[in-house]
Amino acid sequence: MIQSTMMSFPLTLTHFLDRAERYYAKTEIVSRLPDRSIHRYTYAAFAKRAKQLAESLLRAGLNPGDRVATLMWNHYAHAEAYFGIPATGGVLHTLNLRLPPNDIAYIINHAEDRFLIIDDVLLPLLEQFRDQVSFERIFVVPLTGQPVNPTRYESYEDFLATATGRFLAPSIDENEAAAMCYTSGTTGRPKGVVYSHRALVLHTLMEVTPDALNLSNQDAILPLVPMFHVNGWGFPYAGAMVGAKQVYPGPHLDPESLLELIDREGVTVTGGVPTIWLGVAEALECFPKRWNIKGTRVVSGGAAIPEGTIRKLEANGCHVLHAWGMTETTPLASTNFLKKTMNDLTEDEKIKLKTKQGIAVPFVEARIMREEGEAAWDGKAMGELEVRGPWITSSYYRQPETASSFSKDGWLRTGDIATIDEEGYIKITDRTKDLIKSGGEWISSVDLENAIMGHPAVAEAAVIAIPHPKWQERPLAAVVLKPGQTVSPEDLLAFLAPQFPKWYLPDTIVFIDEIPRTSTGKFMKAKLREQFIG
Ligand code: AMP
Repeated sequence: MIQSTMMSFPLTLTHFLDRAERYYAKTEIVSRLPDRSIHRYTYAAFAKRAKQLAESLLRAGLNPGDRVATLMWNHYAHAEAYFGIPATGGVLHTLNLRLPPNDIAYIINHAEDRFLIIDDVLLPLLEQFRDQVSFERIFVVPLTGQPVNPTRYESYEDFLATATGRFLAPSIDENEAAAMCYTSGTTGRPKGVVYSHRALVLHTLMEVTPDALNLSNQDAILPLVPMFHVNGWGFPYAGAMVGAKQVYPGPHLDPESLLELIDREGVTVTGGVPTIWLGVAEALECFPKRWNIKGTRVVSGGAAIPEGTIRKLEANGCHVLHAWGMTETTPLASTNFLKKTMNDLTEDEKIKLKTKQGIAVPFVEARIMREEGEAAWDGKAMGELEVRGPWITSSYYRQPETASSFSKDGWLRTGDIATIDEEGYIKITDRTKDLIKSGGEWISSVDLENAIMGHPAVAEAAVIAIPHPKWQERPLAAVVLKPGQTVSPEDLLAFLAPQFPKWYLPDTIVFIDEIPRTSTGKFMKAKLREQFIG
């Protein structure tokens, strides 16, 4: 054996910050503020302020590993926190502002956050749980210019002004924690995942590659996914590494605001959950000529995207890129791109392929497991998806009792049921707890939902299992119709019949006004089960 001659150089996020400052000083970061005005500055100003934040935090006594929470929308100051906090050796802890106040308080206490950086517009939310938490200091970002009670809060701007401008980055080991997020926890308490510098850096290097998100200096990136959802899917780090223009939507996530921003700022890549794309596709249908968004790459993840939505977006000149991941996987773990050997597929086959979640990205390994062992990659056998890799968590923060989330040989059990086809494309068919087990066969609620949403009168559909004396479980479909549309359950069944075996079809179809959703845009099936099973 001989020793390598390579340098030992730590993979830390601070490198991206230095790089952005040095090479991309003139590139813009654009943010929409709560009053809809636009804030604009360059990477030069951004890096200066991120370093001022880091220096001020160190002067305030932040120690390596200390948690600094953020309660913020997507904008420039949140991006500063993304870099400024980890640059000190501290840990950025992004709080999900859509969770119930009690849950946010639980998470803050569980993580033992020392400081908080918060948007002024979110202070009313903090007031709802302020007596349950004890931050040492709270810094308020003045987005509106409204006066803030100085006896309760400090100004983020005044805090930055305490810096001398001579930030000396401490040396950080790449395995130290840089950020943490809690799972959205549709059942049970949220669980914490802690990301190391190394994991985030490797994730970024992977994310920009052509068969992943294909990000480069030529791009303008609009992360619609909240920055409190799994590192904003890595967009802020990837954007800084390649020096792409970044555009942040602030709290304005309605389709028209987004489309206007994409058009006006020349956005080339955007990413978010299917609920957003559903709305965007509808807006494009209503006003086909209003915005020019041709060529925009639309990254969709977080939940299954209906085939109809993919078709509509592509008909408007967008390119849909379907990706899969979790809080536990930093998040990007699989991406859907067409292999060169598949160029001969018809356009229809290509769209159908896009409904799959794609193949595991480099350095993520995937398998599907059943009780009897690993299932075949034949596109038919369903099993629980398990993954491993350098940015996949191997435990939860201060939760020793979560061993069942990992296989005996150390893979993450995702709780997703999937098939993998001969080409390696993963298709998520369900969450373990949402799968419908009918007479020994498995019925995919996602397949049924997609097919129902293919009916022209249907806006949305969620399928759940209801107990059955003979078959154990049978599907019930809860359907939301488009405004002014009608269709009978019989007609809907007749529409589905040619697409599935008879036993797959729902026993019951009910019409409802709205499908309940979680804070990160997933169907909240537990709520539907409560409603229809009791
Ligand atoms: P979260 O930790 O909130 O990001 O949720 C992760 C879960 O979201 C996964 O385990 C999946 O159940 C679901 N999910 C993420 N991406 C997709 C996708 N592209 N298609 C279907 N489900 C997805």
